Amino acid sequence: VNYLIDALRAGSSGADERVFATLPDRTTMSFDQLFGGAEQMAAALFAAGVTPGDRVAVQVEKSPSAVQLYLGTVMAGAIFLPLNTAYTPAELDYFLTDAAPRVFVCDPARIDALAPIATKAGTARILTLGSDGSGTLAEAAQTRAARFAAVARSASDIAAILYTSGTTGRSKGAMLTHDNLASNARVLASLWKFTPQDVLIHALPIFHTHGLFVATNVALVAGASLRFHASFDAAAILADMADATVLMGVPTFYTRLLAHPDLNRQTTAGMRVFVSGSAPLLAQTHMEWSERTGHAILERYGMTETNMNSSNPYDGERRPGTVGFALPGTEIIITDPATGAPLPQGDVGAIEVRGPNVFKGYWQMPEKTAAELRENGFFITGDLGRFSSDGYLEIVGRSKDLIITGGYNVYPKELEDLIDALPGVAESAVFGLPHPDFGESVAVAVVLRPDSTMTATEIQQAISPNLARFKQPKQVFILAELPRNAMGKVSKAVLRQNHIPVPE
Ligand code: ATP
Ligand code: MG
Repeated sequence: VNYLIDALRAGSSGADERVFATLPDRTTMSFDQLFGGAEQMAAALFAAGVTPGDRVAVQVEKSPSAVQLYLGTVMAGAIFLPLNTAYTPAELDYFLTDAAPRVFVCDPARIDALAPIATKAGTARILTLGSDGSGTLAEAAQTRAARFAAVARSASDIAAILYTSGTTGRSKGAMLTHDNLASNARVLASLWKFTPQDVLIHALPIFHTHGLFVATNVALVAGASLRFHASFDAAAILADMADATVLMGVPTFYTRLLAHPDLNRQTTAGMRVFVSGSAPLLAQTHMEWSERTGHAILERYGMTETNMNSSNPYDGERRPGTVGFALPGTEIIITDPATGAPLPQGDVGAIEVRGPNVFKGYWQMPEKTAAELRENGFFITGDLGRFSSDGYLEIVGRSKDLIITGGYNVYPKELEDLIDALPGVAESAVFGLPHPDFGESVAVAVVLRPDSTMTATEIQQAISPNLARFKQPKQVFILAELPRNAMGKVSKAVLRQNHIPVPE
């Protein structure tokens, strides 16, 4: 038994000729080809000296072959370790040194730049894989027979190490077990009612939990097929909606699609569900989407360390500005950040999560693991939130972004919601700046709507009547856009760095 591979193969039969992935140029890959190619990859990795428990670090462009490499690594009993394609050689130096992989796979075009770094980090073998199926790994795989008996692995063995997005600091490697991934894929496929008839538009990167595990694993366990896009392109996604059923995206997908004139009830008529996650979806975006298309976006909440934790219901109210209910089998509690004691219903506090989805710990960071993963199994997510009286979870920001000014707590989301609701405002980000008396002062970066001429003073005046004095922003910066990382997450650390506090 290879626990995860068996789970992912359950959605398709032995020699399944049905289409697994369709590319924009209309070429396809069947389930049979997917798993056959993955077995060849596993055989090639085995021949390259990969043994169970070894890390296989991968920085390659998104392609069906890259999905085969993920599956092949797990079949070989090894640990899949994907890296953001935007990482520079200097960043890769950190990751390869930290992860100490047996094999590093990169794009053929980058081998000259990256081989010295991998060698210096002690990586034994460097292989290449291009998005067109070229490269030394692809060649080695093609010479192998397409039957490789997956190496036995149990539910608690590590299947992948995924680095966090690095939004709040240096990325950490999260060790995910076979069962972490398999259980979450099964729960989501059932909650979101996936069937083999589903066609999922896949335009997310596959080095991150959203595109790799939520989208790909859910499709595999359900035997659904993918429309595979190398990156997000609004027109191409809209064209696909004619014969697809599901879209999974980050909030920026939805704002960009809303900016496209072809988005309407007709173009989305065949779609079954739109899922959003990885960053907060503005309530306003949710409402505009409903008005334009008649579909209520289904927002869910998760993270690298825990896979998915909560989801709005498939049937029933999908409440804007919330991330719904805990997934079946997962517990979510709200605790006092200072003491860890559970808080009364409705209070804002630290979100903690326990369940089969929660990771085994951070790679080579025992102190950090001990500090954030409690002995009783609860993981302190680093997010702050509260439950509504009827059980919907609302995220109010990250612990690290909580502003404490003159001893009072300011939750960024409360202000952001007020500011975003102003007619001239497209979006906003509230953050703290150092202040000599108060410790921190409240600052806000605002992006205006294209036709808006609002000034910083007008924004301050518009929200002040509704806010206690300590919550009122001392500084308002009008920006052309908010700083975002690869997953569309607003980087408040960058905002804090770029903006200098003004003395009173
Ligand atoms: P790092 O941990 O390195 O600072 P990161 O937390 O951004 O980076 P990820 O694991 O990719 O790395 O992201 C998980 C985080 O994304 C969550 O902790 C949460 O803050 C945010 N998030 C995910 N889904 C949602 C959502 N639906 N609404 C609001 N925030 C979300
Ligand atoms: Mg995080």
